[in-house]
Amino acid sequence: MISVAEAIQIVRQQTQTLSTERVELEKTLLRVVAADVVADTDLPPFDRAQMDGYAVRADDVKETPARLQIVGESAAGRGWHHQLAEGQAVRIMTGAPVPAGADSVQQVELTTELKDGTVVELLETVETGKSIVKRGSEIIAGEIVLRAGTTINAAMMAVLAAFGYAQVEVFQKPRVAVLATGSELVSVDQKPGQDQIRDSNNYSISAYAELAGAITERMPLTGDETSLLKTQIAEAARRSDVIVTSGGVSMGVYDVTKAALKELDAEIFFERVALRPGKPTVFARLPNGTLVFGLPGNPVSVSVTFNLFARTAMLAMQGATEPSLKRETAVLARSVKGTVDRESYLPAQLTSNDDAELVAFPLKWGGSSDFVAFALTTALVIVPASVKAIEAGALVGVVRLP
Ligand code: AMP
Ligand code: MG
Repeated sequence: MISVAEAIQIVRQQTQTLSTERVELEKTLLRVVAADVVADTDLPPFDRAQMDGYAVRADDVKETPARLQIVGESAAGRGWHHQLAEGQAVRIMTGAPVPAGADSVQQVELTTELKDGTVVELLETVETGKSIVKRGSEIIAGEIVLRAGTTINAAMMAVLAAFGYAQVEVFQKPRVAVLATGSELVSVDQKPGQDQIRDSNNYSISAYAELAGAITERMPLTGDETSLLKTQIAEAARRSDVIVTSGGVSMGVYDVTKAALKELDAEIFFERVALRPGKPTVFARLPNGTLVFGLPGNPVSVSVTFNLFARTAMLAMQGATEPSLKRETAVLARSVKGTVDRESYLPAQLTSNDDAELVAFPLKWGGSSDFVAFALTTALVIVPASVKAIEAGALVGVVRLP
């Protein structure tokens, strides 16, 4: 059995980035940038007024009240492009270029216009540089503003727009097929008969995969029958980068996922991880290159193993710099128990206390099948293998769930 860390390492080693594509800016939210994004202009592109008021020479306002002659107006998009001389002022608006010769902007509230707007009286002195954002003080043309590997968020959309990226080079989205096994499963629109349950894993897996940037496809439900499963996996592999199955990976007579993968000549990288829940997780690659994650059937195991392993692969395929869940430290609010030979990832809710520390509240749950309780989970508390228990108040490792 390998550790969780080793398993994640193997996933990263076996995963290659997908090709890149140029995508219209408005379609790039949450995509991963494939090449460094470079500023094509200084920002601001000119000395910019930060207030409505008057562009002046600070020297002319050493004694107040000072009266200056208004010689023009500089508005946003329509500047006053002359040299400001001694004794002169230019009426200026927020966002407008500051004329040459002026070295400060006095806000309009501290001024009065006289003589039909030909003269302005300044009531207070003004510091040199006041209310001016100097050209290039935010960014100089040629600087890298977003590194390759960055996931584009809403604020970054503005950055891309400001530097003229009408299209952005991003990594392709992985195409993911989701495939549930189990002869007990019926689809969501059916009433389960005797001994049957509705398939829920296909929906959580697809949703997690979409949160990881994938394009998903749900394959038809497949019973516990090797030949049918083989057909479905082969079919899915023709148009997918990743297949995520659930169920059928334990040691039971009807656990046929591994048999199907072997018959399809898949290379199996691991099939047991020292993890609770989620020990029988399988990671393999089909001869055509499609990666397969064979997750256990229990819905809670699905969420844990998907986010530890399959999510990592999907983000790594998109070139993300940090594809794995980030480990943080929290104060444990209630004691938890560990397992002898496996690392535990236990459902919890994450909040913070008045000391600005993260606090993890482990949830009461009925084990790896209790997906109703799991729906409230926002994070997993990590208990190292062989630690019997961790007491309330101790610091623990946690990962947030997407
Ligand atoms: P298995 O890993 O196939 O032994 O399944 C473990 C448990 O998870 C069993 O109780 C299954 O009925 C349940 N299970 C398997 N697949 C699904 C699914 N797609 N949706 C909901 N429960 C499932
Ligand atoms: Mg099963």
